[in-house]
Amino acid sequence: MSNKRDYYEVLGVSKNASKDEVKRAYRKLALQYHPDRNKSPDAEEKFKEISEAYAILSDDTKRQQYDQFGHAGINRQYTTEDIFRNADFDTIFRDMGFGGGFEDVFQQMFRGFGGFGQYQQGPPRGTDLRYDLEMSLEEAAKGVNKTIQLYRTDRCDLCKGSGAKPGTKVTKCSNCNGTGQVQHVQSTGFARLIRVESCRNCGGRGEVVQVPCTECRGSGVKKRMRTIDVNIPPGVDSGSTLRVSGEGEAGPRGGSSGDLYVVVYLKPHPNFTREGDDIVYEQRINFAQATLGVEVEIPALDGNLSLNIPAGTQSGTVLRLRGKGMPHLQHYGRGDELVRVVVETPTSLSKEQRQLIEDLGKTLGTDSNSSKKKKSIFR
Ligand SMILES: [Zn+2]
Ligand SMILES: [Zn+2]
Repeated sequence: MSNKRDYYEVLGVSKNASKDEVKRAYRKLALQYHPDRNKSPDAEEKFKEISEAYAILSDDTKRQQYDQFGHAGINRQYTTEDIFRNADFDTIFRDMGFGGGFEDVFQQMFRGFGGFGQYQQGPPRGTDLRYDLEMSLEEAAKGVNKTIQLYRTDRCDLCKGSGAKPGTKVTKCSNCNGTGQVQHVQSTGFARLIRVESCRNCGGRGEVVQVPCTECRGSGVKKRMRTIDVNIPPGVDSGSTLRVSGEGEAGPRGGSSGDLYVVVYLKPHPNFTREGDDIVYEQRINFAQATLGVEVEIPALDGNLSLNIPAGTQSGTVLRLRGKGMPHLQHYGRGDELVRVVVETPTSLSKEQRQLIEDLGKTLGTDSNSSKKKKSIFR
């Protein structure tokens, strides 16, 4: 790692080259060394080198870090995966007419190399995926089956994930002697680290493919669109996360699949707000109704209900309808529907109405704080 060439030199551009110049230089070199085009053994190494240089110099932050601290600044800060993460290789390769995007090309190249692949035995496990799923409150209340589409890495059908061309031999890896692991000494300029890593040669498998599968170029995986049915149980809320085991990305070269995490997002509801497993509805009534009592029809999760608001109800009173809320996710039963009564004070009155209220007012007295009926159930 210490005798790395200067990134500008690798791409053949000057220190103050513009982003466009960097891109043009990389495209030109990639055309020459892309593994689809150049089959010579040192082309892959060269391709890695120019790609890494491009990944750093095309990213403002990374380029600045490199300008300031050199390779040590980059090594200290980023794993190999981090270095390549945000560069737009996919677009570049597509523009150049190469089929494989970033993952197809690089995942197999850099596997087990200080970042790709974890410290574990055997081939790396596939990446976990996250899918945000939006649904209505009603769907969350009843539970729902949703069909979602994902573009993900799947096991290659042709080689069944082995990465070897069907009918060809797989031999023990000489680099790690079949163990799948190697000791890796990393000198960052500030510290020496000794780490046990997946073998770079065999990707932690302990075996080496002699002739790579033509379909997946030896990676054992292919990107494709997948349709997955997800069963959402009743009672989920925004942020509820469901793990769908094994529906993440397939691991390269026969590695196990990651998991799919479906994160629920509830759309705002026109009538209800949710408080835990209770739902809250606001019912507005006028002060005559509050005084005399009234029967109203209110929306509920299972259809409309009629509700008796008793005479003398104060504004802010909460009436509780037991068992009419959201189902509990973890156990049997449901929350409640809470009806918050808001008594509206009239703001514009006709002459007759005004007279009536004035007459009424005279009969009510003035000191409402001494009223005997101070029983209220404010929340
Ligand atoms: Zn294959
Ligand atoms: Zn090996």
